[in-house]
Amino acid sequence: MLSYDMLYSAGAWVPPHGDGVIDVENPATEEVIGSVPRGDAVDVDRAARAARDAFPGWARTPWPRRQELLRSIAAALRDSGEKTARTITSELGMPIDACLAVQALEPASILEGYADEMDRIAWEYDIDWSHIVMDPVGVVGAITPWNYPLYQIACKVGGALAAGCTVVLKPSELTPLNAYAFVEAAEKAGLPPGVVNLVTGHGSEAGEALVVHPGIDAISFTGSTVTGRRVAALASVTLKRVSMELGGKSASIVIEGADLERAVAATIRNCFRNSGQSCSSHTRLLSPRRLEQRIMSIVRDRAGEVQLGDPAAHGNHLGPLVSAVQRDRVTRYIREALASGATLVVGGADPPTGFERGYYVQPTVIVSPDPNAQIAQEEVFGPVLCVIPYDDVADAVRIANGTPYGLSSGVWSATPAEGLELAHLLRAGEVELNGAPFNVRAPFGGLACPVMDVS
Ligand code: NDP
Repeated sequence: MLSYDMLYSAGAWVPPHGDGVIDVENPATEEVIGSVPRGDAVDVDRAARAARDAFPGWARTPWPRRQELLRSIAAALRDSGEKTARTITSELGMPIDACLAVQALEPASILEGYADEMDRIAWEYDIDWSHIVMDPVGVVGAITPWNYPLYQIACKVGGALAAGCTVVLKPSELTPLNAYAFVEAAEKAGLPPGVVNLVTGHGSEAGEALVVHPGIDAISFTGSTVTGRRVAALASVTLKRVSMELGGKSASIVIEGADLERAVAATIRNCFRNSGQSCSSHTRLLSPRRLEQRIMSIVRDRAGEVQLGDPAAHGNHLGPLVSAVQRDRVTRYIREALASGATLVVGGADPPTGFERGYYVQPTVIVSPDPNAQIAQEEVFGPVLCVIPYDDVADAVRIANGTPYGLSSGVWSATPAEGLELAHLLRAGEVELNGAPFNVRAPFGGLACPVMDVS
């Protein structure tokens, strides 16, 4: 059992105000594997005050020293990488090999990336007679999700620390154990007291207390659109700056002349990564109608090869979803899609054979001729690929841009120039051209896209 009974405030492990506890479950076994305190508004207030007290000193700390500390936290995360990967595998369910690379070690790369960028920032400069100074915003409330838990902590806390902000961190109650690994790394690196503070708890309790706290200057949030709207509304009362990342329904567009085998295989890998629990997953495969038969035959073969398995075992199989709630949500989407006329190609909503325990969902591919159908429009957050046929490139662009999301996308073309031309027409924060790998150092973020008409 990995049970923690303390929160972290002003550089010390402190007992929580209340005696509530949140159990952490292993989604592969459905067993409780640990627990953390159910922090409340009193705990948030203590952490926010600690962060405020630490802010002036941290903001005035010369940036090369902040840079050095970021590198030390990254080194500590690398040292504890294998242990942290096992922790995340047991609370999230991502298989251990991928988990080590993506969930445990990439957070260190994120921090190193920020540290490198600090050399390129013009911290102070002149415009005519004015002297411009890059001042930090203040205290940041970081509310992180469960799908890439430590990675998101590194993104939010690392950026804040680089800028000279102090932080109160509230991780998701589903995957809070790795947040302790982050704080331990920060302690080991010698981060001054109060610069990072940790409050575990429920989103509706500790999370909201953070969002409304007058001592917090900015909120960085990643999660669902529904919660994001609530966070933005609550934060507006105290005029906080808010930055949020709320998911996606990204299109992978295959155009005629592209390498179909590569395009389909990569789209399936991308869509099913982390059992489909990735905001930037390419969950819509846009297929030229003329090539539909050929593409569907590749889809069937490649998707049929994807295996489920025990996340503690080595290999490139998929694990379960993070919780029973997520599993039920995803299987409901599949059932509703099939009931409203979509065609099942692989998988389905029934529990996978041989996985009586754990929140497993069959890797599933559905064809939706209607780009406006629910399955083609809404974020499912499970291993579900939706194939949508299109007539010509203009049609593909309309469909790709025709959801409320605008996070990521992919284009598969015969030549980079052709792909680039199409990429410029896409309303998405990033476009991966012919399978270009994700770059942790490139900017990441999207657009909220009001949908007018996709017909
Ligand atoms: P939520 O948006 O509810 O949770 C995300 C984070 O917000 C968690 O830390 C959560 O804490 C916190 N939170 C929840 N309610 C509040 C609140 N009222 N005020 C402040 N913070 C709050 O997502 P879910 O876990 O419910 O997942 C539902 C769906 O959201 C997924 O199926 C997926 O579509 C989407 N999602 C998208 C993510 C992305 O990467 N963009 C990540 C996660 C989910 P706690 O967990 O303790 O409640």
